Amino acid sequence: MKIEKNSVVEIHYTLTDDQGETIDSSAGQQPLPYIHGIGALIPGLEKELEGKEAGDKLKVVIGAADGYGEYNQDQVFEVSKSGFQGDEDLEVGMQVQLETDSGPAIAMVTEIEGDSVTLDLNHPLAGMELSFDVEVISVRAASPEELSHGHVHGPGGHQH
Ligand code: ZN
Repeated sequence: MKIEKNSVVEIHYTLTDDQGETIDSSAGQQPLPYIHGIGALIPGLEKELEGKEAGDKLKVVIGAADGYGEYNQDQVFEVSKSGFQGDEDLEVGMQVQLETDSGPAIAMVTEIEGDSVTLDLNHPLAGMELSFDVEVISVRAASPEELSHGHVHGPGGHQH
């Protein structure tokens, strides 16, 4: 069966950045199950997986625009340290949850100077060219229940 919209697909993957460093991998773990065509994976990767079947292996390089987006300087801003609860615990590299106009978001603390804290709302992989090594492990049709929930049930997915 070929991968198409609403297929439940299991993949093994290794993600490396443009320096060849491994960022994430399913090696040694359960394969990752996802529902194809509903935005579960980054768009560039779903496009490459379309039409593939179990046993297929692919190497793809995905530019930032089809990955986690271009790096956006407007997503970087300074706030006052005194606005945080437990502000003395803030550290560079820490992630904090914020309320934004479009709901809760995770920001990275990138600089602390005096009372000024610089936050970066960009995805940590924004602006990066990503290389994926992917092996398709299995392909099946999603059940109506999985489609209405928007996630995979069973091993590696939701158990409920
Ligand atoms: Zn569910």
